[in-house]
Amino acid sequence: MPVYCYEAKDANKGCVKCSNGFTVTQSLSDAKLEKCPYCACEIYRVISAPGLMHSKTDLHYRAKRAGFKCLKKVSKGEYETMY
Ligand SMILES: [Zn+2]
Repeated sequence: MPVYCYEAKDANKGCVKCSNGFTVTQSLSDAKLEKCPYCACEIYRVISAPGLMHSKTDLHYRAKRAGFKCLKKVSKGEYETMY
């Protein structure tokens, strides 16, 4: 079953789980989650294609190639630009 990554739309409102992002194993026919199952705040799906969670390096490589800026979360509300 594919694994999906979800993150709080507003990290400051989310709980420990969703403000840092969490993964959910769902079947393809399952509807995507819109609310955090832990605190019910709004979340969005970070990765829509299954199988991308295996390699973080690959994910970063793809993001970089696509022209995305990658921010690394240093602490709550603080981000460091990785590239
Ligand atoms: Zn939450």
